[in-house]
Amino acid sequence: MNFELPEDLKMLRDMARKFAAEEIAPNAREWDREGVIPQATIDKLAGLGFMGVLVPEELGGAGATYLGMTVVMEEIARQCGGTALMLAAHNGLCVGHILLAGNDAQKKKYLPDLATGKKIGAWALTEPGSGSDAAALTTTAVRDGDEWIINGAKNFITNGVRAGTFVVMARTDPDAPKTKGISAFIIERGTPGLEIGPKEDKMGMRASDTVPLVFENCRVPAENMVGELNAGFKDTLMVLERGRITIAALSVGLARGGLEESLRYAGEREQFGKPLNRHQAIQFMLADMAMEIDAARLLVRKAAVLKDEGKDALLEASTAKLFASEMATRACLDAIQIHGGYGYLKDVPVERLLRDAKLCEIGEGSSQIQRLVIARTLLDLPGA
Ligand SMILES: Cc1cc2nc3c(=O)[nH]c(=O)nc-3n(C[C@H](O)[C@H](O)[C@H](O)COP(=O)(O)OP(=O)(O)OC[C@H]3O[C@@H](n4cnc5c(N)ncnc54)[C@H](O)[C@@H]3O)c2cc1C
Repeated sequence: MNFELPEDLKMLRDMARKFAAEEIAPNAREWDREGVIPQATIDKLAGLGFMGVLVPEELGGAGATYLGMTVVMEEIARQCGGTALMLAAHNGLCVGHILLAGNDAQKKKYLPDLATGKKIGAWALTEPGSGSDAAALTTTAVRDGDEWIINGAKNFITNGVRAGTFVVMARTDPDAPKTKGISAFIIERGTPGLEIGPKEDKMGMRASDTVPLVFENCRVPAENMVGELNAGFKDTLMVLERGRITIAALSVGLARGGLEESLRYAGEREQFGKPLNRHQAIQFMLADMAMEIDAARLLVRKAAVLKDEGKDALLEASTAKLFASEMATRACLDAIQIHGGYGYLKDVPVERLLRDAKLCEIGEGSSQIQRLVIARTLLDLPGA
């Protein structure tokens, strides 16, 4: 395995890094406080191809690989976890599901607007009664002529406030075993019967919005089913496998933020007559952070390269997501410790980085669920 990024991805990384430092970093504190990313920033992200990282160029995207996606995610998350989460749900989940399972007509109809940022994408799996046990979802879709009628509720849907395109999982066969009777639908904003609930007031990832959705006799054209009838959960698991690589890369970016802020601060702040970075206890924290970030990035890139080679990466995606997300929380906690009392203040970025990092241990399959996936794969148990 080549541990160096290829030249084109180095250029992508440098472009994302420059944009994040110039356009995102100065505003991240305000977006966290206000709970919104300005549309102008989303337009600029689209201009760089970041709203369609994986979308083929002929459909308006950047045509990048999963490895490229991880590079973008790390750089954006380095400055703002919420902006990165908006991109992750849009690219990795909504666009990812249409790329994976959509037919040619659906790709041509929906992907250009999503890839160019004219529309933001959301992906709705979680419900009030089904989170980790996602296949227990109870939202129903009942066929009526050329339409499906959707009824039910979804919870915690990223990007829901502004999304123009939702991919929604619903039960189409109530008599089938729970993983075998689910299908996915594209539902456009403004479809009668789709109600978008109020924005959640979150601990972290505040720049990205999260909402509940309610479907009341929401009629969707039959042509909007993504993938095969009753095969939606199989596709969902594949979308999540890819999505976990994205969240793992996002985690690496947050942890790198913690390290870089700490390196800077530990060089500036003096105690006992010398900079903090001349105290061995601080050096050891910095060394552990650097070591774990490198290990996590290697896991992320291994999983991404497997996907780019068209291979199964269930184990590798879960391993990367589990290690990177828990590592990010550890790194950001240490970053606060290195900053001392100042790290506990809202004006210092490491406080926000820690709040953002905690979400990565919960969303797209909690740490407990990743451990279950890894153990089931190791033990060759059903459900892996
Ligand atoms: C900010 C944010 C954004 C989100 N964005 C989206 C989105 O865009 N689309 C979407 O569909 N969902 C989204 N989610 C939902 C997210 O994926 C779920 O919150 C997550 O899967 C966990 O589900 P839950 O919250 O219902 O927790 P639960 O499933 O109720 O779990 C609670 C606790 O029990 C543990 N647990 C559950 N089952 C087991 C088990 N078998 N063994 C051991 N421990 C277990 C969990 O690990 C967790 O610690 C988002 C959530 C948040 C907070």
